[in-house]
Amino acid sequence: MRKLVILGAGTGGTIMLNKLTEALDKSEWQITIVDQFETHYYQPGFLFIPFGIYTRKDVIKPKRDFFPPNSNVIMSEIEKIEPEQNRVILKNNVVLPYDYLIIATGAKIAPSQTEGMVDGLWHKNIFDFYTIEGACALQQFFKTWKGGKLVINITEMPIKCPVAPLEFAFLADWYFTEHGIRDKVDIHFVTPLPGAFTKPRASGVLGDFLSKKNIKLTSEFSIGSVDNEKKEIVSWDENRIPFDVLVTIPTNMGDEVIARSGMGDELNFVPTDKQTLRSKNYENVFVIGDATDLPSSKAGSVAHFESDILYENFMSAIEGRDMMEKFDGHANCFIESGFGKGILIDFNYDTEPLPGKFPLPGVGPFSLLEETKMNHYGKVMFRWMYWNFLLKGLELPVDSQMSMAGKRL
Ligand SMILES: Cc1cc2nc3c(=O)[nH]c(=O)nc-3n(C[C@H](O)[C@H](O)[C@H](O)COP(=O)(O)OP(=O)(O)OC[C@H]3O[C@@H](n4cnc5c(N)ncnc54)[C@H](O)[C@@H]3O)c2cc1C
Repeated sequence: MRKLVILGAGTGGTIMLNKLTEALDKSEWQITIVDQFETHYYQPGFLFIPFGIYTRKDVIKPKRDFFPPNSNVIMSEIEKIEPEQNRVILKNNVVLPYDYLIIATGAKIAPSQTEGMVDGLWHKNIFDFYTIEGACALQQFFKTWKGGKLVINITEMPIKCPVAPLEFAFLADWYFTEHGIRDKVDIHFVTPLPGAFTKPRASGVLGDFLSKKNIKLTSEFSIGSVDNEKKEIVSWDENRIPFDVLVTIPTNMGDEVIARSGMGDELNFVPTDKQTLRSKNYENVFVIGDATDLPSSKAGSVAHFESDILYENFMSAIEGRDMMEKFDGHANCFIESGFGKGILIDFNYDTEPLPGKFPLPGVGPFSLLEETKMNHYGKVMFRWMYWNFLLKGLELPVDSQMSMAGKRL
């Protein structure tokens, strides 16, 4: 039997398990998937929890609901990968030898990387919304908050879903308007980027939305520490921004297992060929999703597009053929902009988000780089698509390669 081990049963790992279980001959292949948690979190839903739109139960389902029947599943923390020996060591010292490995261990927040972040005010006046715990704590806080200075701060790039902090700012504007205290809430978006977003054209459009919604933007602010006593964030060059509540997007890092295995960069992301999705260092190791060091967005949509490419290249590799499929960095993100509207962006490594219609050229129904109600419905529908199609590795009506059709230059 040839052995394939998939590490991580989040978005990317689950899709690959479904695709490859279907494709590989069961009499020749043993596929094993490993994850530490039984629960699958729909992470895009974390955004809505602080504003009471979703609760915990709206974003969780058992991981096993999405595995093919009779899958070989191990629920355990992964201690170490030993790529020279082609084996994985689990927390309980179980050893899993492999012929091929797919790493899908994702990324997570590391707030303790910033001095003072997890001191006295953590989950009292400083919150994240990138974890279920942070999002739920913030929901409780907002229920009774009477207003003041709300600072939303990105620590450093890359982060998962780089539009999520902007969406948070837009939803905060909506939420406090609905609660009749918008005039008492001073919303301040503070980012290390030169503008509102990573890509210049979209950054201009999204920056205009911030000012239209009376959200102050401070760019090129690189946080060095949090002063818990004065309730201020402090940049490396000693600029200070006061807050009553700080919503931080802490440093995002790959899992420690990558560091323990000596397989990552300084943020524990795995060096990965940006086109083939094979590890740069090991021929029989592939990487998908947030665990990669690719310059694409860290997003579920990206993991899904990557899965098509990885599937083809994996099948080529095991059959000794050249890997012909090339990932182009395609990302597709609905941006919730508040008051029942949304914006859509579609881009790849080389082409930044452009205006136009999507997915049908000239028809839509979604509009690129424009705020519409239909885009909001797209965002809402994404959760259903995620549970019912995306995780199961089923075809979606969007090509894994970005198309220029329908886009205006
Ligand atoms: C607030 C927020 C909003 C978002 N919004 C969007 C959005 O609107 N659209 C979008 O496309 N994407 C969005 N994303 C991003 C999206 O959720 C992720 O990019 C996607 O889930 C990445 O999939 P993955 O498989 O790489 O990692 P994950 O789905 O995170 O899976 C990683 C898995 O590996 C397991 N694992 C890691 N280390 C170990 C270990 N040592 N031992 C055992 N198991 C381990 C974890 O338990 C986990 O199950 C958002 C994310 C957040 C946080």
